[in-house]
Amino acid sequence: MREVSRERRRVLKLALGVLFLLPAAGRTMAPERLSESEPAARALGYRHDADEVDVTRFPKRAGPEGATQLCANCRFLEGGPGKDWRPCSIFGGRLVHARGWCNSWLPFE
Ligand code: SF4
Repeated sequence: MREVSRERRRVLKLALGVLFLLPAAGRTMAPERLSESEPAARALGYRHDADEVDVTRFPKRAGPEGATQLCANCRFLEGGPGKDWRPCSIFGGRLVHARGWCNSWLPFE
């Protein structure tokens, strides 16, 4: 009987430990912001501020029509609207700025 009680206490402690650690694990798994200097970001001309895109290298964003292209209205942006930093499926869920842009931009269908 005493052995069962000891085992129960051990299992309860273990369960409480897991419950305590889960929120911390969730925090460490939060997506990181995409860096403009990463090779993939550089290859696609990603900038946090779309006004800083080199339009000579990425003419897709040139002119009045190009100026309307932002991460905020790109089909690859995920997450709820209203946040400045949101996941982008092109960059594996890393966070991009709503006012950013890259050469993979496509409008919503
Ligand atoms: S794919 Fe779209 S949402 Fe992602 S970085 Fe490029 S423009 Fe922004």
